[in-house]
Amino acid sequence: MIIDDQHYDIIIVGTGAGGGTLAQALAPTGKRILILERGSRMALEDQNRAGVDVFKRDRYHAPEQWYDEAGEPFSPQTNYAVGGNTKIYGATLMRMRDRDFEAVTYQDGITPEWPLKYADFEPYYSAAEQLYHVHGEAQADPSEPAHSMDYAHPPMPHAPIMQPIVDAIKGEGLHPTALPVSLSARGDDPTGDAEVFGIDLALVHANVTLKTNATVVALHTNPSGSEIKGVQANVDEQPMMFSANIVVLACGAVNSAALMLISANEQHPNGLANRSGLLGRNLMKHLMTVIVERGAAKNDGKFTRSVSINDFYWGDQYYKFPMGHIENSGGLLQDIIFAESPPLLSVLARLVPGAGLRKLATASIGWWAQTGVLPKFENRIYLQQSRNRQKLRYEFTPNNLEAHDRLVYRWMGVLKDLEKSSLGLRQSTVYPRGEAPLQIVGYQSGTCRMGHDPATAVLDINCRTHEIDNLYVVDSSFFPSCASVGPALTVMANALRVGEHLIERLKS
Ligand SMILES: Cc1cc2nc3c(=O)[nH]c(=O)nc-3n(C[C@H](O)[C@H](O)[C@H](O)COP(=O)(O)OP(=O)(O)OC[C@H]3O[C@@H](n4cnc5c(N)ncnc54)[C@H](O)[C@@H]3O)c2cc1C
Repeated sequence: MIIDDQHYDIIIVGTGAGGGTLAQALAPTGKRILILERGSRMALEDQNRAGVDVFKRDRYHAPEQWYDEAGEPFSPQTNYAVGGNTKIYGATLMRMRDRDFEAVTYQDGITPEWPLKYADFEPYYSAAEQLYHVHGEAQADPSEPAHSMDYAHPPMPHAPIMQPIVDAIKGEGLHPTALPVSLSARGDDPTGDAEVFGIDLALVHANVTLKTNATVVALHTNPSGSEIKGVQANVDEQPMMFSANIVVLACGAVNSAALMLISANEQHPNGLANRSGLLGRNLMKHLMTVIVERGAAKNDGKFTRSVSINDFYWGDQYYKFPMGHIENSGGLLQDIIFAESPPLLSVLARLVPGAGLRKLATASIGWWAQTGVLPKFENRIYLQQSRNRQKLRYEFTPNNLEAHDRLVYRWMGVLKDLEKSSLGLRQSTVYPRGEAPLQIVGYQSGTCRMGHDPATAVLDINCRTHEIDNLYVVDSSFFPSCASVGPALTVMANALRVGEHLIERLKS
């Protein structure tokens, strides 16, 4: 093992929404910062765009296996690269609604109240939206919480095929609004991500070092277990040991919890900072269904997503519980829909030959329905000793299913009404749809819950572990509940918030 002779002020593990955003926030301090990332820079052609053939391929699945509740292996759709999952995400950056921070009554139970409220996050949401060049229109959506600052960039115009549909949705008395999206203004890499707006900005500073192909495999504490003393990584397959005053994990909710579990020692026999027994538990991932509207006018299949509908977010006149969020998918020939895509489209792809598939895709539009789940103790990741290796077990039983079904059916009802008004939509009898299966893990969160009480939370409100003074987690692990909007903007805002705390701490 090579022992790195540098001692750093901070080591950040992971470069996604959490790690990348934090790195750029800390870089101007001049402190010695080491970033360890298991992936490498992602080639442009591998990012979120390609031809129709991706229907038939399992894109963006990590080259490893996790094991489900039945012990069956699966290959998770998660991206190990500089920028993490933001290199392949949809770039929709939405704020959680203010009520999402409270205890919310879902049909299946009540979500835990967050220890911090919307007002605590608001300035960081604004800062994250500026940093990630979010294009949007604050306040146009009645469910949108108050913004102290408007978006710096106007919303993207809807594609020609979508504009009449948006007008017709308004005609139904609903409130379709511009989807807030991060855009980079780069022709070759249009969506804004944590490489462009995080890591690359951090690396402008000479005090920041990035090591790629550097997989952290264990954290080592001092004898009393109160501090992390060593960060062990395989760098280009070479075992190395690094040290720093502060260690921040940002490996994603599954991998950060796994790293803390695998680093168990005498002082932390059940995993680092796991006296609460909650490390790896309360795993959440949204319920997601894509609905394909086949009778649309001819389109290029490549237009970007732009429409958000939250009229059913908190329920409707027939159902008094939160149902969730609707957005359009953009053209069906873009990778991203297939990257996220549930099996249904893949099934269609197997049935329809290439040219037929393209024809189908360019006469269709898609919609995503997205619903939050409740955190459940039994939904968790853990490590299972199996012969001479440890298997990552990923046990997740979806809940809040009725709310999601109602959202999907409610939306199909709206689509039927729109068809009657003949706005470029033909009457459909079927709406092919598919639910995101277990291996779609991109919206993972919750495995190191944040809270005031060490008995019921792994992290304190600064995302520092309750038990290890210099260990922080700034990815989506900290979520006490997951709301029904995508997690990325909340991860970014939280990284800026924790960054402020760390800057203060580094001064002392
Ligand atoms: C296809 C897809 C579409 C999505 N679309 C949206 C969207 O439109 N809107 C939205 O809000 N969210 C979206 N998401 C979710 C969003 O990408 C995540 O919520 C967000 O990236 C989470 O940030 P993170 O920092 O927790 O983890 P990640 O972004 O996953 O970053 C984790 C990083 O840690 C690295 N890493 C992991 N383990 C180790 C290790 N042991 N050593 C070193 N490095 C390690 C990984 O390589 C990665 O770079 C999408 C996700 C996917 C997969």
